[in-house]
Amino acid sequence: MTDVFSIEKRSWVMSHVRGRETSPEIKVRSLTHRLGYRFRLHRKNLPGKPDLVFPFRKKVIFVHGCFWHGHDCPRGKRTPKTNTGYWIDKIRKNIARDAKSQSELQSLGWNVLVIWECEIKNLDKIACKINEYLSDRCEINRVAGVFLPPLSHAVSSTS
Ligand code: ZN
Repeated sequence: MTDVFSIEKRSWVMSHVRGRETSPEIKVRSLTHRLGYRFRLHRKNLPGKPDLVFPFRKKVIFVHGCFWHGHDCPRGKRTPKTNTGYWIDKIRKNIARDAKSQSELQSLGWNVLVIWECEIKNLDKIACKINEYLSDRCEINRVAGVFLPPLSHAVSSTS
């Protein structure tokens, strides 16, 4: 009984302590809000607990950190020098979990957009992307902007 927070609550608290104003998720949230879209957060009844949920549009947005989710970009390809195997394993599991959540969401009729941390440097571009994705003009059932890197890049970087 030393821990006053549940694990879930604790990770929520930690994520908010770490970067309240600057986290990629908050930036995407406030940008989307400014664009005039209203959304819900982390609906627990949806696979992968998407960061932003648009129930009436049947659309979700995930904001992914490049390192944790194994993006195919310089930050995503960075491999820690210590406990390398541990991190690679962890990131691979995240990639697999992301793919699973996304296909589950799609089979439930949801559209999925992934916004990567490294994309957030260019807020104008992200604004266009979000607008295009959420506007009612494009009701295409597709996975927009999802990029799943081959697992091989994580493996080959161990050698
Ligand atoms: Zn990236």
